[in-house]
Amino acid sequence: MTAHKTPSTLPTSSAPVPAIPQERVEAARASIGAAFAGALDDLCAFVRIPSVSQRSFDQSHVEASAEWVADKLRGLGMESVEILRVTTADGYEGAPAVVARRPAREGAPTVLLYAHHDVQPPGRDEDWDSQPFEPTLRGERLFGRGAADDKAGVIAHLTALGALDPASPLGVTVFIEGEEEVGSPTFQAFLAAHAEKLRADVIVVADSSNWKVGGPALTTSLRGLVDATVEVRVLEHAVHSGMFGGPVLDAVTVLSRLLATLHDADGSVAVPGLVVGAEPTVDYPEADFRADAGLLPGAQFAGTGSLTGRLWVKPAISVIGMDVTPVEVASNTLIPAARAKLSVRLAPGQDPALAMQALEQHVTSQYSFGAVVTFVPGERGKPFQAPRDAEAMRVARAAFAAAWGTDPVDIGVGGSIPFIADLLESFPQATILVTGVEDPDTRAHGANESLHVGEFEKVCVAELLILQQLAEAGGAR
Ligand SMILES: [Zn+2]
Repeated sequence: MTAHKTPSTLPTSSAPVPAIPQERVEAARASIGAAFAGALDDLCAFVRIPSVSQRSFDQSHVEASAEWVADKLRGLGMESVEILRVTTADGYEGAPAVVARRPAREGAPTVLLYAHHDVQPPGRDEDWDSQPFEPTLRGERLFGRGAADDKAGVIAHLTALGALDPASPLGVTVFIEGEEEVGSPTFQAFLAAHAEKLRADVIVVADSSNWKVGGPALTTSLRGLVDATVEVRVLEHAVHSGMFGGPVLDAVTVLSRLLATLHDADGSVAVPGLVVGAEPTVDYPEADFRADAGLLPGAQFAGTGSLTGRLWVKPAISVIGMDVTPVEVASNTLIPAARAKLSVRLAPGQDPALAMQALEQHVTSQYSFGAVVTFVPGERGKPFQAPRDAEAMRVARAAFAAAWGTDPVDIGVGGSIPFIADLLESFPQATILVTGVEDPDTRAHGANESLHVGEFEKVCVAELLILQQLAEAGGAR
C-alpha cells in the first residue's frame, strides 16, 4: 500500500492512552536493540529472494521465500510450522502460505500475526537507483523491492516474536501469505480450509503505513469497492450521421450525459444512498497531494471537506474504461452502442450490495432519450471500519506512544484490502489491528521502494510491547 505525504503538524489522538510501565519500555528497547542488526541482515537476505507473485514471473522464488520464512519460524521455537496452500473449486492453485503456531496457555489470548512474503514486480531497472533485489542502505533508508512492502512486516513479526519471553502464556499464530500482491485469490478458500489453525482474539495486519517519520498511526478505516459496466444502446446498427444525426443522439453522447449525472457540479458524488463517514482528524497538505497525484497546474479538486475526508470516508466514482469507436477509425456515422466500466470506492460503513443497488437505481432511472441502458454488476469488496474502543486498540496505541514517544493518530486508507473483510467475516469476535512499516516516502509498488530503518526499529519495539501487554490483558480477564 502507498501513503500520503508528511503533514506539517501531527495532532494528538483524542483517546486516552494507558501508559506502559517505563521499565518494560526500556527493556523492550534494549532487547529489540540487541536483535536489530540481525533483523536487518535477515531483511536483506529476504529481499534478495525475488518473490514476485505475478504468475508471469518465475514462481520458484515465491516457493523459496515461503521456505525462508518457515526456516526462520522453526528457529524461533514455534510448536508447528507448515507451508500450506489451497486449490479453489475452479482449479486455481494458491501460492504457498506459512502458518506457524504456539498455543495459548493459562487462558491467555491468541494473536494472529499477518504479513505477506510476495512482492510486486520490480518494474524497469533503469527507474531504480540501485538493483531492486539487492538491498542497499542510503542514509537512513534501505532500498529494495519488498524492503518495506511487506518483507519488513514479516521481519517485524519475527523480531518481536524472537524477543518475547518464551514463558509468555500468549498464543501466537503467524500467517505469512504468498499472493497478496495479486489480490489474494485463494484467501477465502484458505480461511475456510484452515479456520481452526488461524482463529485468534487479535489479528495484527502489518501491511499499512504510519502517518509520517516520527508519527505512528493505526489504520482504522479502509474504503470498499464495487464496479459495474453500463451499456447504452440507441440504434440497431450504425447509420449515416448526416442522414440521421439531429433527431437521433449517438450512443456515446447519451452515455456521456448519463455518466455526467454521477457527480454534482462541484464534483461530489451525486448517487443517492451512498454512505459518507465522519471527517478524519488529520489532513493531507494540499501541495503534497497535488505533487503526489501529478495534478496539472490549475486543475481544481472535486468534492468538499478535507482531502483525507474525500479520500478515506466519502465515496468516489471513476470511469475506468470505455468501449467506443477509436478516433483513428472514426467515420461520419452515429455510433449505435457504447459501454463504460465504473469503479466506485465505498466509505467505511457502506454495505457493498446496497451500494451496487443504489448505483444501478441511479443509472437506470436517468432520462436517457429512451435508450436501452443495461447495468451489469461486477466485483464487490467490503470497506473496513475499526471499532473506536476495542481493548486491543488501546493496547496498540499505548505501545505506539511508548515506542515513538508521541501519541499515534488514526488514519484511513482510500484503497481496499479486501482480505481484511474476509478475516472479519471468518473471525467476527477478533479485533484487527492494521499497523505497518511504511511512511509517506516508502514508494511501495514503485521504483526505489524503501524502508526507514529508524522507524522500523520502533515498529519492532511497539509490536513486542503489544504482545507483552496483550498476554497480560488476557491473563487478567
Ligand atoms: Zn503489502
